[in-house]
Amino acid sequence: MKKNIVIIGSSNTDMIIKLPHIPKPGETVLGGNFSTSAGGKGANQAVSAARAGGEIIFIARVGDDIFGEQAVEGFIKSGINIDNIITDKKAPSGVALIFVDENGENSIAVAPGANASLSPSDITASKDTIASAGIVLLQLEIPLETVRTAAEIAAENGVDIILNPAPARPLGDDILRHISILTPNESEAELLTGIKVGDEESAAQAADALSAKGVKTVLITLGPRGVYVSSKDFNGIVPGFSVNAVDTTAAGDVFNGVLALSLSEDMPLVDGVRFSNAAAALSVTRLGAQPSAPYRKEIEDFLKKF
Ligand code: ADP
Repeated sequence: MKKNIVIIGSSNTDMIIKLPHIPKPGETVLGGNFSTSAGGKGANQAVSAARAGGEIIFIARVGDDIFGEQAVEGFIKSGINIDNIITDKKAPSGVALIFVDENGENSIAVAPGANASLSPSDITASKDTIASAGIVLLQLEIPLETVRTAAEIAAENGVDIILNPAPARPLGDDILRHISILTPNESEAELLTGIKVGDEESAAQAADALSAKGVKTVLITLGPRGVYVSSKDFNGIVPGFSVNAVDTTAAGDVFNGVLALSLSEDMPLVDGVRFSNAAAALSVTRLGAQPSAPYRKEIEDFLKKF
């Protein structure tokens, strides 16, 4: 039976300029194209999971402004339950300024706004929702205390927690020991373990170090190469799909949202990782965060080609 997914995290409006190269300090680069799109790690993951077929409840804060209104409209369109989204009367909606170069590499500055006000008491107010979730999915674009509170409530109620430790910041064992699945990319894995991840061997070492802190399953995302999986039943790389990347913004978010969806449908872990790699590969062929998240049928059609 499909379980519902509670996603707790950030919602931003992304303002994107695609340009020949990313400006260095003091440099002005002309010739870019400007666009805005809905973003924020929490929201990106919520939309990705919903488009892939998940039943999603999103817990977040947005500002009382046009950006917040547009973000919530987008969630409603994606079929996401918005009952636990709070409109902050003081702080503005979160904004991210994103540069994308010709190779699809990006550079991002984030003003968190209302995301920084998502508090432990907001989470406690949604305690019953979290306690009855099938899966809880968290990232680190909201206060750490809030992440900790959510993890504690989920763990107390036996709810599996996926933590995408992004953006990179140090985490105590008090949070890590509650985590069922941790999904760092290479640089996040390095920050958490001190081990530089570059190949399968170093990924295995970093995963072991995280397992020693109490994490059950570690998935280290390796960009186009796919994902290193360290789990009870499988240790090794689940390869990514070769595509023409135009914008890697939100690749990790699409991966995490779709991973939560696949586990909510009781897909075996390795199959779920492959399904999520396919979704993330599709997303890097498109510009933007939420606009790039594929629908279920697109993922299934893509996989038929392999
Ligand atoms: P993040 O976006 O968080 O830095 P990664 O770069 O590791 O994380 O990407 C997350 C996942 O997205 C990868 O595991 C892979 O499945 C997919 N992915 C990322 N970049 C590419 C790419 N250029 N081609 C195909 N798949 C990609």
